[in-house]
Amino acid sequence: MATGDLPTETTVCIAGCGPAGAMLGLMLARAGVEVVVLEQYPDFFRDFRGDTIHASTLQVLEELGLLEGFEQLPQQRTTSITMMTDEGTLTLGDFSRLPGRFQALSMVPQWDFLNFITAEAERYPSFTLRRLVEVTGLIEEDGAVRGVHYRGRGEHGDEGELRALLTVAADGRHSTVRRASGLPIVEFGAPMDVLWYRIAKQNGDPDGSFARLTSGRFLPMIDRGTYWQGAYTMPKGTFAEMKARGIESLRDDLQRAMPFLAGRLETALRSWNDTGFLEVRVNRLRRWHRPGLLCIGDAAHAMSPVAGVGINLAIQDAVATANLLAEPLLEGLVTERDLARVQHRRSLPTRVTQRIQLNVQRQLIPATLEITSTTTVPPALRVLTRIGPVRRLFSRFMAIGIRNEHVRPMRSAGLSRRGDAPVVDQSNHLRTEAR
Ligand SMILES: Cc1cc2nc3c(=O)[nH]c(=O)nc-3n(C[C@H](O)[C@H](O)[C@H](O)COP(=O)(O)OP(=O)(O)OC[C@H]3O[C@@H](n4cnc5c(N)ncnc54)[C@H](O)[C@@H]3O)c2cc1C
Repeated sequence: MATGDLPTETTVCIAGCGPAGAMLGLMLARAGVEVVVLEQYPDFFRDFRGDTIHASTLQVLEELGLLEGFEQLPQQRTTSITMMTDEGTLTLGDFSRLPGRFQALSMVPQWDFLNFITAEAERYPSFTLRRLVEVTGLIEEDGAVRGVHYRGRGEHGDEGELRALLTVAADGRHSTVRRASGLPIVEFGAPMDVLWYRIAKQNGDPDGSFARLTSGRFLPMIDRGTYWQGAYTMPKGTFAEMKARGIESLRDDLQRAMPFLAGRLETALRSWNDTGFLEVRVNRLRRWHRPGLLCIGDAAHAMSPVAGVGINLAIQDAVATANLLAEPLLEGLVTERDLARVQHRRSLPTRVTQRIQLNVQRQLIPATLEITSTTTVPPALRVLTRIGPVRRLFSRFMAIGIRNEHVRPMRSAGLSRRGDAPVVDQSNHLRTEAR
């Protein structure tokens, strides 16, 4: 794709169209703010990146009037997360007693979710998504960020600049923009890494998603309708060792833990190419912003897979950003104080969520992965699954999180969609000076 049709100037440039970038793009466009989202890949059909749409996101979709459309997407709904242990079935998350409108977790392939959000965003004239455009660096003048340098990744591969009043880094855990900004990140470490794989489903398989816990193995299995999206959790740094033992070692482990998979593993896992490796990282920025630049989602804070909340936190960041910045953006003046408000709003939920994840990692993961005795349920897991109030609290943490964001009503001006007459004057001056 040629990047020649990209504007040279906009109000907001968002690097990356994952959950954070897509949702922020939609909400700003809906408020009438001109926004350009740059995404390096041609589509969203990439490796598995998580499916869990929790109550907090369902609430946002309802507030945006998108719940009905969302419900048409292929999805599995579950009211609980069960763990199959050698001692019987434990319920880790029970969403049936959550407060509020939503008492279930929806599992939706991330590509369907992102296609849905961006299709909705494209109905607004001030929204532009350009795929196959990689952000390579930042335009900096007088100590402020004034936009991005980019490179087309298609056949043309042309380079260019997009100037913006505000640049948002929503380019994920390996963020190029964050690196270019020089904002320091704090790493918290994780005791495990994860290997992802797929196996076709068959009649007689367990019903719905679950996690298998057995001697030294913790194996989440996500029901994707026609196939299982499986996760193999391993102690950090042991993948090379495992690879040296050959793919048969993975097949043998899976077959031992889940005998119902017999007969399918040879075809599903022929080589390591049939698996995807996730290096688990937990980190966050001390400061999420510089003049003209804001980092959100995984670019600001990579989350542990514990409780499957990364997508939902990224969306909460996007909602808070749109709530707090749409007005200043429409006025054409965004100060560092405005950007600091976003960090101030989202910092507490991020820190508390990571603290809980790190505690669970510390208490449960080594105990789970290093078990060799016949007892396979670590004591901390017994507490989490068997003591009602603790289980309810953990379920609420997963589904709703801390400090829920609600979509703020916007100026009616932003309601115009493609085909309607434009009602918002977008001739913003690109200013970022202090207010
Ligand atoms: C294997 C795996 C499984 C996961 N499972 C779950 C789960 O079950 N539940 C859950 O809630 N979370 C899960 N997560 C975490 C979740 O995917 C992330 O927390 C969430 O996607 C973060 O959203 P984001 O928009 O901040 O970043 P991302 O989703 O990472 O999106 C960043 C986007 O930016 C693009 N990009 C990157 N660099 C550039 C560049 N230089 N120029 C242009 N575009 C760029 C990328 O292509 C991508 O589309 C999982 C993650 C992984 C990797």
